[in-house]
Amino acid sequence: MRITDIKATTVTVPLEAPLRHSNGAHWGRFVRTVVQVFTDEGIVGLGEMGGGGESAEAAFAGLKTYLVGHDPYRLEELRFKIANPTASLYNNRTQLLAAIEFACLDIIGKHLGRPVYDLIGGKIRDTVSFASYLFFRLPNEHTGEGEVRTPEQLVQHARELREKYGFRVHKLKGGVFDPDYELACYLALADAFPNDRLRYDPNAALSVEDAIRFGRAIEHVNNDYYEDPTFGLNGNRRVREMVRLPIATNTFVVNFEQLAANILNPAIDVILLDTTFWGGIRPCLKAAAVCETFQQSIAVHSSGELGIQLATMLHLGAVLPNLTFAADAHYHHLQDDVIQGGKLQYVDGAIEVPAEPGLGVALDPDKLQQYAELYRELGGYPYDRDPARPTWFPLVPNTRWATPDDTNN
Ligand SMILES: [Mg+2]
Repeated sequence: MRITDIKATTVTVPLEAPLRHSNGAHWGRFVRTVVQVFTDEGIVGLGEMGGGGESAEAAFAGLKTYLVGHDPYRLEELRFKIANPTASLYNNRTQLLAAIEFACLDIIGKHLGRPVYDLIGGKIRDTVSFASYLFFRLPNEHTGEGEVRTPEQLVQHARELREKYGFRVHKLKGGVFDPDYELACYLALADAFPNDRLRYDPNAALSVEDAIRFGRAIEHVNNDYYEDPTFGLNGNRRVREMVRLPIATNTFVVNFEQLAANILNPAIDVILLDTTFWGGIRPCLKAAAVCETFQQSIAVHSSGELGIQLATMLHLGAVLPNLTFAADAHYHHLQDDVIQGGKLQYVDGAIEVPAEPGLGVALDPDKLQQYAELYRELGGYPYDRDPARPTWFPLVPNTRWATPDDTNN
């Protein structure tokens, strides 16, 4: 079997409301690139990458000379063809490789008539559990609904998600407001749901000292872990020395060099594996095996996903013996998806791993067209800007917090 063509389509799919984070916001929609890899046997594989537009579509088109004629089974060769680790210094294609790897695994699975989890060790669980992934949100610009700004709104939002989807783990994405205000919000969640588990992630916005102070103030609640409290391996190592909480990251251990550094001189306890950041499902499996060897813990990270990428997270989560934490997903914030049958469904806070051949999801051509047109209409948005504060940008560590009444716009 040989690859014959690649097609990349940028789409934008609306969110319930804009999601705020330490660098800015997701402005009421996700922009994603859907990748189709065609073969001479008529099998089409699906991939997905974050972001999009002309540059992303051109980047995938530029891979044709590398990929046309390539056998999709030869995944290790693929890695060196398009993401050679030393050539990557000049031209880092890790995220492109990830999308192509997803598509090749999808092709192989369809060719063999087996789901991807059967190609990577076989599933040891039928469903993958997810955390609620709570954000501070701006109101939906059309309906005015969906705002999350106060502790009361946050608890109410968590309660609605808990009832609708069955989540029993709640992750608060912080780094937006002053740490003392976010501490009050986090403790309000702990009070409201004393038997659920919690995690806090300010995207490395806090100073080491603020991170220590915040961490000590939450030691008594039911935490899974404390995620990227401050910047860098050394900063987090200082926090870890002073706080009795497992430290997690999806930011400072995203490749094998960093994983080795963290094992030799530990700063992080829980590595969040991201099928895009690490360059595919298979590098995440390799990293998980290294973590298993050294008794480092793992979880599954979400960098924002539609159903194709979500499927990669489900197949990964299905086969990892050492996955003891609920996975993250932004998915429930989306209003729709580009896959046939609409959004995958949560039951008791978990999603069933697709059992159809390949990734087990199929494109809905009408939805793909609809959201490609919406992208052409709306264009992209700057991830590192907050629409509520047009002239603002953060420092690292940050001190320029939003105020709950937005008086510092
Ligand atoms: Mg994170």
